[in-house]
Amino acid sequence: MTIQEKYMKEAIRQAKKAYKLGEVPIGCVIVFEDKIIARGYNRRNTDKNTLAHAEITAINRASKKIGDWRLEGCTLYVTLEPCQMCSGAIVQARIPEVVMGSMNPKAGCAGSILNILEMPEFNHQVTVTRGVLEKECTTMLTTFFKELRIRNKLLKTENTTMSADTSGSAQNDVQNAPVQS
Ligand SMILES: [Zn+2]
Repeated sequence: MTIQEKYMKEAIRQAKKAYKLGEVPIGCVIVFEDKIIARGYNRRNTDKNTLAHAEITAINRASKKIGDWRLEGCTLYVTLEPCQMCSGAIVQARIPEVVMGSMNPKAGCAGSILNILEMPEFNHQVTVTRGVLEKECTTMLTTFFKELRIRNKLLKTENTTMSADTSGSAQNDVQNAPVQS
């Protein structure tokens, strides 16, 4: 196992915490001097907070640990290609290196829709590695969305006579599923 795979495994462990909460399974760890200094996983629906993405949580914690908003010398590992907000935060935090698992063609901003991490126009560019333990990361997501679709279908059948308000729940995430199964 490579070093990158070793830390991606830790990010996957974080993603599984999200999965247990019924959240889209996305996990992140930040490594400094060959040690994990911060972890995070997606809690958007649980916390009802747009900012509760795995990467933002991990960046917050890493900054507290290091005592600086600049995360120089850190490597961020994330199971899914970061969105526009997280990619922006990565650049703002001056993180020099990002390692990712799956790509996210529908929302990713580290190579899919945009590539915020590697724009020469910004004052900071990130060294990016893609596709580390990609299969494991992707399977985790496709399984989640498959189960979510089944759950939603069951709910729909149960609620045919009632008007269930499902707004704000993970059910909305089906529309934004990053990976087609
Ligand atoms: Zn994000």
